Formats: sequence, C-alpha cells, structure tokens
Amino acid sequence: MIIIMRNNATKADIEAMERRLADFGFKTHPIYGETKTVIGAVGDKRRLSMNQLLMMNGVENIVPIMKPYKLAGRELQKEQSVIPVGNTTIGGDRITVIAGPCAIESREQFSYVAKKVKEAGATILRGGAFKQRSSPYSFAGLEEEGLKIMRDAGDETGLPICTEVLDPRDVDLVASYADMMQIGARNMQNFKLLREVGKHNKPILLKRGLSSTIEEWLMAAEYIMSEGNEKVILCERGIRTFEPSTRNTFDLSAIPVTKELSHLPIIADPSHAAGTYKYVSSLSLGAVAAGADGLMIEVHQSPETAMSDGEQSLMPEHFAELMTKLKPVADAVGKKL
Ligand code: PEP
Ligand code: MN
Repeated sequence: MIIIMRNNATKADIEAMERRLADFGFKTHPIYGETKTVIGAVGDKRRLSMNQLLMMNGVENIVPIMKPYKLAGRELQKEQSVIPVGNTTIGGDRITVIAGPCAIESREQFSYVAKKVKEAGATILRGGAFKQRSSPYSFAGLEEEGLKIMRDAGDETGLPICTEVLDPRDVDLVASYADMMQIGARNMQNFKLLREVGKHNKPILLKRGLSSTIEEWLMAAEYIMSEGNEKVILCERGIRTFEPSTRNTFDLSAIPVTKELSHLPIIADPSHAAGTYKYVSSLSLGAVAAGADGLMIEVHQSPETAMSDGEQSLMPEHFAELMTKLKPVADAVGKKL
C-alpha cells in the first residue's frame, strides 16, 4: 500500500508511521517529493487496521498497490528511475551502449575489443567470466582470471564493467570486481541468486527469462528490490517462440509495455535475440526507436574463432557503423548517444 502524507507532515510524523509499519513486519520505502512524502509499505496487511493508520498524525490517505510487483511498478514510483553505474547512468536522456565479447577469452582479446568499443562510443563494457552454456562441454569462462582481465580493461578505458554471476556463492567475488552484475536469462527465476544480489548495492542487469512473461520478469526484479537493492535494470534479450529463423524472437513490444508498468530502465540485447550478426543492426535501431534506454551488443575481433556466440557478434568496424546509424534514431526520440 501507499501511505500519502499531508503537505505539512513533519519528519517525526513520517518516522512514527515507518516505526508503526515496521512493528507489523512491513518493509517501508519513503519517497520524498517536493511537497509531499509518500511511504510505500510492503507486507501482510491482515493484522493491520487501516482506520488506525489513517488516524495517525500527518496522514492524508492510504491507497492499495494493485500489482504484485510493488517496488518495481509505477504505482508507487511514477518517475523513471535513473541508475548510476560507475561513472555513467542508465535510464536518463542518454542511450547506454553496453558492448564487448560474449566471453573473456584472453587479456589480448578483451583489451583489444574494449579499446575498439570505447573508440566507437560504448559507455559500458561487457564480457562473461563465468559462462552459462547450453552444453556442459563448451567453454565455461576464465572465472576469476577473467574478472581481473575485465577490471584492468575497465580501468584502462575508463568504462564501467558488467559481467554475469551464475551462483549465489560467487556473488561476493563478482561484486568485488564488477560495476554492474548481470543475471542471465536462464537464472531469471533462480530466487536464491536474486535474493543474494539483492543484498548487494551494485546495480543488477536482469535479463528476461527464455520463456518468461513480463509479469514474471518484474516479479524477479521485485525479489532483488525486496532485499534492499533497488538498482535493477531490465534487459529484453528475446524469448522462445515457434519461429526458428532467429535464435529467439525479439519482443519489441516488451519495451513500451514494461515502460508503462515499471519505472525501471530497460536495455535491449539484439545479439542474443537474433543469434546472427546480420539482424543486430536493424533490431538495435528498432529498440531505440521504441524507447529502450540502451543496448547490449556482442562484439568480437574474430567472430569465426570466438569461443562463445561468434555467429551473433559484430566486428568492431560494424559496431562503429551501427553507432553512427543509431545517432539519428536517438535524436528522433529526444535522446543523446
Ligand atoms: C550473455 O549475455 O552472454 C548471455 C549468456 O545472455 P542470456 O542470459 O540472455 O542468454
Ligand atoms: Mn553471449
């Protein structure tokens, strides 16, 4: 529910309300506006008397939150969230471009791509150190050595770094290197992992599950937020459909739909959606035109020898071309690139 405090409510009134709610086991989230303060309260309402709460000092009204995702939804927070990631932000008037190879393969490979994507205008580096592969025989990543390589490349280029964490036991380790942690599509409903990253204060890039509805995806965000970490960024990366001509089907409508339902920023990942480099450019332009806050693009200097997802990776020069093409589209939707 949302407790709307009167314009003249004092700090003591707000604190007394928070204490009362906490006594009943509620988690509270005060939002201080210019004139009004509202308190989002999430918990079990059965033991609580609404009439008594309404009688407390400074209370104007109490309204229920109808959607199951209380913190991720727009009912409690109307304004779009802008989330700081290292030296940049996601969700404001600038398109975020997260780029890099699927996997960190070696220091030479990663630092080369990092420099190239930075030159072309990427704002965050990506790369997998712990890889979730469909086959148990595929390359599973360099693990901590990969994290070190990535951190160094981030420091050299001045770009924040984003990498996936697969296991609740690795969260502390990954958080100690990364500026943003990624939850992969296959882990979107790994609730233990979601709770664990929710205990950290690093921003979380939450990919949509392979066959997840938008509501399930927002509930996964809610898991993270309910632990205290509200820095969640959604990532649409294509869903399973009956259509085999692309690896997944890029759900363009997920962008305006989640924008309407949630204040969280949304990034599009056309690489994992298409599964082939050929369509990455058109899907990227479409996603930005539809209102995405940014893109995640896989880039590799030699896609034909890449250890993971080579077929969907852009060569650095094609990535640079895409950045040029994106500019007028970003302008058309009133965003900077
Ligand atoms: C990735 O980003 O490399 C990845 C494995 O993505 P997804 O979880 O969307 O398949
Ligand atoms: Mn990949």
